[in-house]
Amino acid sequence: MKRILLIIFSSVLLLAAVLIFRTLSFHSKQISVEAVPLYKTDDATIQRLSEAIQFKTISYQDSGKMDTSQFNGLHRFLQNSFPLVDSFLTLEKINTYSLLYKWQGSNVSLKPILLMAHQDVVPVDPLTLPGWAHPPFDGVVKDGFVFGRGALDIKSGIMSEMEAVEYLVRENFKPERTVYLAYGHDEEIGGKEGAFKIAKHLQEQHVELEFVIDEGGSIISGIVPGIAKPVAIIGIAEKGYVSLELTVEEEGGHSSMPPKQTAIGILSAAISKLETHSFPTKMEGVGSAMLDYVGPEMDFGMRLVFANRWLFGPVIESQLDKKNSTRASMHTTIAATIFKSGEKENVLPIKASAVINFRIMSGDSIQGVIDFVKTVLNDERIKIGMTSQFGDEPSFVSDTESESFKLLQKTTQQIFPDVLVAPYLVLGATDSKHYKNLTKNIFRFEPTRLVDADLKRIHGTDERISIESYKESISFYIQLIKNSN
Ligand SMILES: [Zn+2]
Repeated sequence: MKRILLIIFSSVLLLAAVLIFRTLSFHSKQISVEAVPLYKTDDATIQRLSEAIQFKTISYQDSGKMDTSQFNGLHRFLQNSFPLVDSFLTLEKINTYSLLYKWQGSNVSLKPILLMAHQDVVPVDPLTLPGWAHPPFDGVVKDGFVFGRGALDIKSGIMSEMEAVEYLVRENFKPERTVYLAYGHDEEIGGKEGAFKIAKHLQEQHVELEFVIDEGGSIISGIVPGIAKPVAIIGIAEKGYVSLELTVEEEGGHSSMPPKQTAIGILSAAISKLETHSFPTKMEGVGSAMLDYVGPEMDFGMRLVFANRWLFGPVIESQLDKKNSTRASMHTTIAATIFKSGEKENVLPIKASAVINFRIMSGDSIQGVIDFVKTVLNDERIKIGMTSQFGDEPSFVSDTESESFKLLQKTTQQIFPDVLVAPYLVLGATDSKHYKNLTKNIFRFEPTRLVDADLKRIHGTDERISIESYKESISFYIQLIKNSN
């Protein structure tokens, strides 16, 4: 008995020692840098952002509805607003409406960097108009904000990057490393005519890039429980995308003599079955990398938990599973988005069809999703096909140990000394996926400050950016270009 107690006691001691040792060696991944004061930019920068918003460069699902005059207007506006960019950089228009600027560096042995954004914005649903404080395409500047569609997504990106280059040319800065600015015109409908063609054009010239920066994460307050500081989340990977169409065809007939299950019943049961079978949780990889960056900044109790994921993994997972956003960062997600069937109340439908949208985690694949659905449903009555829109495999994961990530982290901490930096997984899709053959380092980060409530303004109602935050983002790009030399 005494021996057993001794064994238990020493095991507990050993476990405690391991837990504490791991907690104490769970070091901060933030780097110590001197803050860089913001570069002085005048209020004309705000006026220019407001004007850029006034071009209704809307992407419609039906690309035939594109109003080309708005894009041409934006191009002329950029040319007039940034005379130094116009004379010191070369501009190529790709597929007529996409823009590729090149600022030639003096040292051709250095790989160029490429800063991205997109010219197009999503439409405004007329039903939401009463909810807007100011008309969405007026670019109203008020109460410390610039309002309008594209203020966050992402005219602010184009304008702050171009302001930064204009500033540097004016200061007589000459880059050693070539800088590209690339602005597609159809990101919101997949980027196949814009970013895809820009990337193809660069590939044909055998360009290899040091890194690419596109939209994705931002600097968000209150996003990580247990962390008071704002966190700059930098997307190091994005999920893949595929939609499958499930179809059931039955005989139909009069509803007074129905079979035990109609086409609607069969398909509903199938969707319900899919919803109860989730893809396996993947805590390793990008999710784990994020915890490595935020965990060490928490109090001792939380540090102990995150430093010992080998033991507390299931507890962490069950917590993350409670919120849709965090759950989506651990799984390939399954969302039934379209269901069609039935014409008349007393007629059995001859067909029921549904579209299921999947966002694919790295490690899974489009084929894996199809196999998963076949295995789970295991029902010959249900036909499974891809929708006409083709899918995207999940992106590769950019390395947080790379010089490029460190450069981005350093720049962020210089311009935003009050924030923490953490890598994360982008749940949506960005134009950056088209650049996968040009570099190993793709980072999805927009240096603007948001609070949790701002997230629904993106693609939503009353989109706006704070003037202060916009000015910081110009400084960020100035510093980034300087640091990359
Ligand atoms: Zn966007």
